[in-house]
Amino acid sequence: MKNDATEEQVNAVIKEIERMGFRGVPMPGALRTAICIIGNKGSVDATQLLAMEGVKEAIPVTKSYKLVSRETHLESSLITIGDVTIGAGEPVIMAGPCAVESEEQALTIASIVKKYGAKVFRGGAFKPRTSPYAFQGLGEKGLKILDKVRRETGLLIVTEATDSENLVPVEKYADIIQIGARNMQNYSLLRLTGQTKKPVLLKRGFAATIDEWLMAAEYIMSEGNSRVILCERGIRTFSDNTRNTLDLSAIPSIKAVSHLPIIVDPSHAAGKRDFVIPLSRGAIAVGADGLLVEVHHDPAHALSDGMQSLYPQQFEQLMQEISRLKQYL
Ligand code: PEP
Ligand code: MN
Repeated sequence: MKNDATEEQVNAVIKEIERMGFRGVPMPGALRTAICIIGNKGSVDATQLLAMEGVKEAIPVTKSYKLVSRETHLESSLITIGDVTIGAGEPVIMAGPCAVESEEQALTIASIVKKYGAKVFRGGAFKPRTSPYAFQGLGEKGLKILDKVRRETGLLIVTEATDSENLVPVEKYADIIQIGARNMQNYSLLRLTGQTKKPVLLKRGFAATIDEWLMAAEYIMSEGNSRVILCERGIRTFSDNTRNTLDLSAIPSIKAVSHLPIIVDPSHAAGKRDFVIPLSRGAIAVGADGLLVEVHHDPAHALSDGMQSLYPQQFEQLMQEISRLKQYL
């Protein structure tokens, strides 16, 4: 639409797109609103639309994803939750244990990560574990503990939904709904998450290409939820010195084609705590909008991912290093 297009003109174009048998999704930007046509199988004849008032141009989108594409939304998206904005230049640090183990554990770690500058507390209540015999998380009890962490510390909460059933309480208690690597291509879960009102942290699947990952984000956005944050967490390669291989090239690659913010999880990529700080430095240097980091006050006794959890003192060091790096961004 033209810069000065009115709301009525935007609505009239959406109506016309619907009359043509498609859906029109408005994408308001700082300079102008784009309207994405979705549901078309092939190219669309735009003659009718171009004749309408307020319409500037019709741009055929060259990628299979649309809503996540920079072609439809030139400016980078900012995601604001409370007083935290993701994508605004200041890296947002999300930190906490892999899993919520008890109220005492969660509150102890939350006060540590808050003290050093984290804005969001992470902690799984529903854990997707490789082994069915491993600790599966505290479930709803864990969500109630996270709620208490929010009330006592003011930190925002990010926690994972692993299926359609637990998505309901996770939406209720979380500020950001995490969709894990294992579920990146669980299309029914993606659609349901797209129907929620909370921002979504979408992790990259172990073997997902950039396009597959963006198509997963498109599933969420096509249901009406535009607040998607991507998270690179390492992919499977032949390299076995780390748990996964952190693909730092994903950050500029995503930024070139999508307006969505992207953060990095160095913990699940590394699998070893001593690699987390160097990988975090790299992530911030290549332009990540934030980090998702595992921290534990007693990693030797953690019920999951103790090996990759930072000691509190290491988290303090990480935060100091990031603040030094920021002057070069
Ligand atoms: C997690 O962040 O707790 C997690 C399970 O990560 P991933 O889905 O990336 O394996
Ligand atoms: Mn973990």
